[in-house]
Amino acid sequence: MRTFIVLLGPPGAGKGTQAQIVAETLQLAHISSGDLFRENLKGQTELGKQAQDFINRGELVPDDLTIAMVRDRLQRPDCAQGALLDGFPRTPAQADALTEMLADLDGKVVCVPCINVPSEVLVERLGGRWTCRAQGHVYHQLYNPPKETGKCDIDGSELYQRDDDKPETVANRIRVYLAQTSPLIEYYQKRGLLAEIDGTQEISAVTADLLAAIRKD
Ligand code: ADP
Ligand code: ADP
Repeated sequence: MRTFIVLLGPPGAGKGTQAQIVAETLQLAHISSGDLFRENLKGQTELGKQAQDFINRGELVPDDLTIAMVRDRLQRPDCAQGALLDGFPRTPAQADALTEMLADLDGKVVCVPCINVPSEVLVERLGGRWTCRAQGHVYHQLYNPPKETGKCDIDGSELYQRDDDKPETVANRIRVYLAQTSPLIEYYQKRGLLAEIDGTQEISAVTADLLAAIRKD
């Protein structure tokens, strides 16, 4: 049975930062729906063109496009043991689709950590976020700075500020999270899979709590 972990939490909670560390520690693939969309935007694919306006407005890309993209990604061989899902599902319809996709792959969701961080902190985190062009590694100008300004520690590529990290779009993304994604907290709680994590701690303390929650299952 392949094991899948779903990371929940508002934009800026630290999902990407933690997913990278935890996936490496547990030797699982890291699947970020946001990174997949950004690759499609960069490559100007048909999917990228269809998703672009939604992303720029800080809205969710429609479920059918998102589900098809993730379904494709789950077929790749690096998901043979399972994966850590970061940013997907984001709606109850996506969560239902995930359950169906995993049944076909002999897999299931085993743990859903939700990283909690208050809105004021999210705005500050996203305002100072720098993202790497090559692979989406994330930094913060104050809380997690790269060794060399403007350059990724891991792959040396250029760091940039995402267009959708500007304050107006961030405010909308937080509203969208509360309206469309936060119902998943109850969805997974009812299924006995939710683990609440305090995301206001230092990065290493959040990682320790996440690993403890995942290993308990
Ligand atoms: P998400 O994927 O949930 O949107 P990220 O992992 O990209 O969040 O983190 C958002 C920003 O906050 C980044 O700039 C990151 O460096 C920073 N960050 C992540 N975790 C913490 C933390 N525990 N404390 C302070 N800053 C953090
Ligand atoms: P963050 O790391 O700040 O939470 P993401 O990189 O996960 O942001 O997502 C960026 C944007 O990509 C979202 O605002 C949304 O437009 C789109 N997106 C990513 N994942 C999904 C999803 N599961 N469903 C719909 N849209 C998505």
